[in-house]
Amino acid sequence: MIRFYNTLTRKKEVFKPLKDKKIGIYTCGPTVYWYPHIGNLRSYIFPDFLKKILIFQGYSVKHVMNVTDVGHLVSNADEGEDKIEKTAKREGKTAREISEFYFNIFKQDLKKLNISEPDVWTKATEYIKEQIELIKKLEKKGYTYKTSDGIYFDTSKFRNYGKLAKLDVQGLKAGKRIAIGKKKNKTDFALWKFSEKSGERQQEWGSPWGIGFPGWHIECSAMSMKHLGETIDIHTGGEDHISVHHSNEIAQSEAATGKTFVRYWLHGAFLNFKGEKISKSTGGLYTLSDLEKMNYSPMHLKYFYLSAHYRKPLNFTLESLNASKNAYEKLKNILFELRKSKQKINKKNIELAYKQFLEFLNDDLNVPQALSYVWDILRENRLNDSEKYELVLKFDKVFGLNLDKEEKIEISAEIKKLAEERERKRKDKKFQEADEIREKINKLGFVVEDTEKGIVIKKR
Ligand code: AMP
Ligand code: ZN
Repeated sequence: MIRFYNTLTRKKEVFKPLKDKKIGIYTCGPTVYWYPHIGNLRSYIFPDFLKKILIFQGYSVKHVMNVTDVGHLVSNADEGEDKIEKTAKREGKTAREISEFYFNIFKQDLKKLNISEPDVWTKATEYIKEQIELIKKLEKKGYTYKTSDGIYFDTSKFRNYGKLAKLDVQGLKAGKRIAIGKKKNKTDFALWKFSEKSGERQQEWGSPWGIGFPGWHIECSAMSMKHLGETIDIHTGGEDHISVHHSNEIAQSEAATGKTFVRYWLHGAFLNFKGEKISKSTGGLYTLSDLEKMNYSPMHLKYFYLSAHYRKPLNFTLESLNASKNAYEKLKNILFELRKSKQKINKKNIELAYKQFLEFLNDDLNVPQALSYVWDILRENRLNDSEKYELVLKFDKVFGLNLDKEEKIEISAEIKKLAEERERKRKDKKFQEADEIREKINKLGFVVEDTEKGIVIKKR
């Protein structure tokens, strides 16, 4: 039995797929105008576990993820510049070059974190026709209106608008002092925006309403319907999408089809820094490559993510990342030792323990509990060393922590030079200076060990 916490009902529910063993999952992907930060990346860890545990339990999964390469405006609402166009202007590149460049970085980061790519990537600019068709459908049903700057969805016409976020729409109406611009209701949103002056934007298309570009929300409805049908089993995203983006996805999809759009909504909590959400607009704190330069591997970061349940906020500090790094290295070392064992394996023991592991994951993806179970197994003596080894490798098919992989350590010329200098000082009996150099090497994330065969340099 698999259970997920459904944001729609605010309850843990038993998961029942729409079509027997075939499951459709849609994940809101990145807006590709800047480097993904470690907060963004956290949001893609749990859909990967979700997918893997379903596949390992015999389901076939079709996973679709969008790439927002047009229509996401700076204000996150319906005002301001398009994020991609703005970066293109700043960097003197084409919008296409910008989105391709940052999309590739995003894919590289997923790869480094062992997050498998979706079965289908959908770029918003490649589905303009579908988005226009969907808006036409909404127009025909009377859900849209036109203003001087675009076509809008009239949220007052959709019964239950805001059901996902439990929005107090009446309250929002009462608070009308907040500027609503050209919109009829504060919660209305753009389906199609007109270009201010034709030819000024790099990305614009003709439509029945005038030259322009799609709003940010319509892409997810149009593209998910195209690949997964009108009702999706599971939709995932960051919790910041609940009140606007996903509320709008529901409104426009259900208004168009008259059917339930998503059966299970799963939302991930934020990665915070000093109690605040890490966000691209405020600099993003660190990217994965920043951390790599500081001698943290993608697996150290992944282990850190695994320490918290996906629905719980996680606070980032270098101290906790260090703790994760140490725990991860310890786990890898244990496995390295266990690998040498040649004991007889009882498959039943492995299966039993694996079943327990899956039970933790089937309970709304309780990854931290599954991880602490790994440590229990290693500490206790229910399994022999060879069985432990086999079992942890099986767990790692879900975790994707490269536990069995020997990592190649890149030792820079600078470190090698320092190590040689230290050797010379030692030979000259200048021990204090040698120790100072050792300190320097430590600070750069390495240790030098004096062995019978000479010096060995290792990652700290
Ligand atoms: P964006 O590329 O800005 O559209 O964001 C991509 C994804 O990252 C969205 O699903 C966001 O919900 C998510 N996200 C943004 N900031 C954070 C954060 N600090 N912690 C976790 N997820 C985040
Ligand atoms: Zn979306």
